[in-house]
Amino acid sequence: MDLELQPLNLPSDNPRPFVIAGPCSAETEEQVITTAKQLKKLGCHMFRAGIWKPRTKPGGFEGNGEAALPWMKQVKEETGMLTATEVATPEHVELALKYGIDILWIGARTSANPFAMQALADSLKGVDVPVFVKNPVNPDLELWIGAMERINQAGIKRMAAIHRGFSSFDKKIYRNLPMWQIPIELRRRIPELPIICDPSHIGGRRELVAPLCQQAMDLGFDGLMVESHCSPDNAWSDAKQQVTPDVLDYILGLLVVRDETVTTEGIHELRKQIDELDNNLMDLLAKRMRVCREIGQYKKEHNMTILQTGRYNEILDKRGAQGSLCGMDSDFVKEIFEHIHEESVRQQMEIINQK
Ligand code: PEP
Ligand code: MN
Repeated sequence: MDLELQPLNLPSDNPRPFVIAGPCSAETEEQVITTAKQLKKLGCHMFRAGIWKPRTKPGGFEGNGEAALPWMKQVKEETGMLTATEVATPEHVELALKYGIDILWIGARTSANPFAMQALADSLKGVDVPVFVKNPVNPDLELWIGAMERINQAGIKRMAAIHRGFSSFDKKIYRNLPMWQIPIELRRRIPELPIICDPSHIGGRRELVAPLCQQAMDLGFDGLMVESHCSPDNAWSDAKQQVTPDVLDYILGLLVVRDETVTTEGIHELRKQIDELDNNLMDLLAKRMRVCREIGQYKKEHNMTILQTGRYNEILDKRGAQGSLCGMDSDFVKEIFEHIHEESVRQQMEIINQK
């Protein structure tokens, strides 16, 4: 089902991206106010800070809770910025609203849990506040959409999705794998839903914030949520990934934001060529499958097994190497041939099992 949405109408100096910035956690009154004032001076209109922090292990800084909410109120009064914080329980919702928080977001650990999402949705009935839903920790688009549907069905119309990457056992460059195909598919499924990128939690390191912001813009994301702290190295949580307001300003100044509509017209001819090439690809694939079925017939008549491992490896290696000669990733090419092979095997099985 579709979401029933209304425009967010957030304050922003430019149409794209809108930016929400602020520290991972609201640590002290001074840290909150100092960071907010620095961000405001650089033209940022929306301030984030975590009041309740979901920590992987006990013993980390779990947020100041209600004690930090008056600082957020002060930010609003002194800078005019809108304030945003993470809520994970109905009690958080109630307190955040009591202190006038303007935007609520739901964290990755919470959006993965339908019970928690339903409890939050129930607590939001009859309330008019924008709610942003981070992707669940696991790469499951349906779970993400389901979480947003629950909130939407409670009557919340101003919504956005936040892409913060996905957990993996094997951590390499990123703290959380971006798996861009998931937010791209979300855009295809619900085109009117704004998507915000959180480069801080994807990257996990401050050097990755700028390139991730640019990638998000190149993919047509609407907004950015970036962790910014007046003294990042001394942050009580996520120190490695936070940037000072000055650095954030520098990063945003370098962003190249391309206009989607203009480019679309300019590439019309090229798109026609792509369609033509895709038709040829489909034709070739169909021909290849026909030949495979003939081989299946031959194997059946000669009582051979379908899977000839030597031949399979030869195809993967040969095409992988050929792919990299043509400027493609050899693993990517191998993967394509794995899929093609899978379908060939399926078709040959059909033939062999025919009476
Ligand atoms: C955060 O925004 O500080 C946070 C805890 O994010 P996530 O839910 O994406 O881990
Ligand atoms: Mn954080």
